[in-house]
Amino acid sequence: MIIKKAKKIDTLQQLVGQKFGRFLLKEVNTIKSTTSNRNSFTLNFICDCGVNRTYSHSKATNIFKGTTKSCGCLRKEKWAKSYYSWKKDWTQKGLL
Ligand SMILES: [Zn+2]
Repeated sequence: MIIKKAKKIDTLQQLVGQKFGRFLLKEVNTIKSTTSNRNSFTLNFICDCGVNRTYSHSKATNIFKGTTKSCGCLRKEKWAKSYYSWKKDWTQKGLL
């Protein structure tokens, strides 16, 4: 699911339980600002790998847009995959 902009708390609340990449939005919390009238939010996500992450609204926007897809495990897996295929290749060629 890709959301371009979710500004209001209601909109954000509606997204609870939705999946964005590997993230599942678990909770939306409002933080009362002491300096201005505008409230800010923190968004609690759980990644497929089991990692809990809390992001600020601006960071969460990247998740809604699909720019950020995981807590970092996706990148690690990709890296591991390419490493193993490289290793297999070299082993087959008798270079290792
Ligand atoms: Zn993860």
